[in-house]
Amino acid sequence: MKCVSCGESEMVKKKVEYNQFGIHFGDYDAIVCPKCNETIFEGQVSEQIEKKAKELGIWGLSRKTKIGTSGSSLDVKIPKQIAEFLHLKKGQEVIIEPAGKNKIEVSVV
Ligand SMILES: [Zn+2]
Repeated sequence: MKCVSCGESEMVKKKVEYNQFGIHFGDYDAIVCPKCNETIFEGQVSEQIEKKAKELGIWGLSRKTKIGTSGSSLDVKIPKQIAEFLHLKKGQEVIIEPAGKNKIEVSVV
């Protein structure tokens, strides 16, 4: 099958290491484009990954949140589950920086 992303190369079966939120899940069967690295996990494999994420308690950790205001700056509410996952506490120092035009990165120091 031709790559669904670049359309230039045939995709090949390969074992791929899967990580989410910095947690190593293991190696899974995937089809990968040797040219652009587009990676697809097929049905059963993505179910396995989902199951593993649930076991690890990190399934669905991505959340929508709203920007609020605080004086002249804006603030971002961090959902409880994410705060617990990162062991964040009130008053804790973090580094916030843009990680692209539509992405913010917050690092716990
Ligand atoms: Zn490709």
